[in-house]
Amino acid sequence: MLKVLLASRNAGKLREFAELLPELHFIPWPAEAPELPETGAFFQDNALQKAEGARAWWREHGAEPVDGVLADDSGLCVDALWGGPGVLSARFAPDLLAYQDKNRRLLAMIPDGADRAARFVCVLAYAPLEGEACTVSGSVDGSLAFDHRGEGGFGYDPIFIPDGQDRTFGELPSETKHTLSHRARACAALRARLGLD
Ligand code: IMP
Repeated sequence: MLKVLLASRNAGKLREFAELLPELHFIPWPAEAPELPETGAFFQDNALQKAEGARAWWREHGAEPVDGVLADDSGLCVDALWGGPGVLSARFAPDLLAYQDKNRRLLAMIPDGADRAARFVCVLAYAPLEGEACTVSGSVDGSLAFDHRGEGGFGYDPIFIPDGQDRTFGELPSETKHTLSHRARACAALRARLGLD
């Protein structure tokens, strides 16, 4: 079983990776490790920056050997906000702590009658301990709900209705999210890339 350092402390992502890639053994980014910068303009830049930054730190300070490092850069892209918050999703409304409040603020920014189309995007970068990192991606199209609905998932899940469903990712069981989410699709591409199938 490949032992993989996950370059993230996001509990929602951590849980999803453990469920989506049960053939990998994940080690979470340790609490004492530095924040990983994500200063790129694109999801792919940030995913690579996090994977390579985490790998460099782990080579010096890692508590145990790992086979590689996985980083996820993802976000919600809303057509009526010209693709925002997009790559800045983790930094949207930094004055608000709770996602319920961030979600309400985001919804309040959508003008009445505007197109509510949106998509979640996920880019994964996998850096083996030696050698070049690779990237894969996945996305899911959908639309914005009119209110925050459901307590499941994390982040923007309660305001996103994937196409073909009438419930938000916050209301749908995680098994359903895992059949169609951006992260599930990116994980399927990663599994093929790493020859795990
Ligand atoms: P980053 O990849 O660390 O820049 O953070 C991505 C941010 O996008 C997360 O903190 C969430 O707010 C949001 N996000 C990414 N994937 C999901 C998802 O599956 N559900 C809900 N929100 C997500």
